[in-house]
Amino acid sequence: MHYRRLGTSGLQLSALSFGAWTTFGRQVGRGQARELVAAAWDHGINFFDNAEGYANGEAERVMGDVIADLRLPRDGYCVSSKVFFGAASDPRPTQRGLSRKHVRDACDAALRRLRVDHLDLYFCHRPDPDTPIAETVWAMDTLIRQGKVLYWGTSEWPATAIREAAQIARTHHLHGPTMEQPEYNLLRRERVELEYAPLYAELGLGATTWSPLASGLLTGKYAGGVPADSRLAQPELGWLQRELLGNADRVARAARFVALAAELGVAPAPLAIAWCLRNPHVSTVLLGASRVEQLIENLQALELAALPDNGLWARVDALAD
Ligand code: NDP
Repeated sequence: MHYRRLGTSGLQLSALSFGAWTTFGRQVGRGQARELVAAAWDHGINFFDNAEGYANGEAERVMGDVIADLRLPRDGYCVSSKVFFGAASDPRPTQRGLSRKHVRDACDAALRRLRVDHLDLYFCHRPDPDTPIAETVWAMDTLIRQGKVLYWGTSEWPATAIREAAQIARTHHLHGPTMEQPEYNLLRRERVELEYAPLYAELGLGATTWSPLASGLLTGKYAGGVPADSRLAQPELGWLQRELLGNADRVARAARFVALAAELGVAPAPLAIAWCLRNPHVSTVLLGASRVEQLIENLQALELAALPDNGLWARVDALAD
């Protein structure tokens, strides 16, 4: 494993990290979750990503139990939560969004579920049109001053809103956003590469990027239909199946990428992840896995990313356009 700084902060995260979306509290049992976290830790992963909305808080509960059970040293790993969607299945207005009230309540609830006394990273999971950005910036700053959060950031915010948050923080001498959590993969690259491009230098922004495999599409696993044990077979993720497999252009580009990986003699999953790692603005690539074998295969991305550039990456890059 190697480690990268989170933007210009002093926090060093493993270049590959591990998240719990759709798996913990849903697709995989506690035993499997324990094996996944143990394997990640044993291979040097030091950042575990979560959110209040994952399995209505259950993903955080499972992760907290598993980390405690494995007795990972608290100063050796980082854990995150995200606030916005709420943990309740039918949230009332104060149980979701980015108001001072929900930001505080959600943080306290995440601390309890994750069994920690501070969150290393805390994200605003989406922009909230019903809360002034200043209110959220002040709420995050308060949590940092209380020692409940170390670094706060955003996820899928427009660059203009991130800039506004940073400006408010600067004006009032508050802690501004340190990182963004955007989707980044061969099929979706504009936000990370174009929209946020000025922010890396301007704000020292870090990027903890998600869905490097486009939920598995870039492994070629859906080419012959949706396997019954895969993410897209979960009934509550019908929207994701429609979004991914309903777009003929994306499906065709994924198929071309899988064919190129076969021609090169490498597995498509680590190749797709390695492509993300080659972007120097990416602080860490968040992996997802429902089985330890997937995680181990995906870790090969570290070696692939270090391969000399003999035209290979230009060919992969061309497929992403
Ligand atoms: P990926 O795009 O890498 O998808 C992971 C899924 O792909 C796995 O759960 C598995 O699904 C399948 N898979 C993984 N490796 C392999 C392999 N080698 N061979 C075959 N199939 C494989 O990442 P995620 O979408 O899970 O995103 C990673 C993390 O990012 C999340 O856990 C979460 O923490 C974060 N995230 C953040 C979001 C945000 O809005 N901030 C949104 C989404 C994710 P299966 O076995 O079920 O087919």
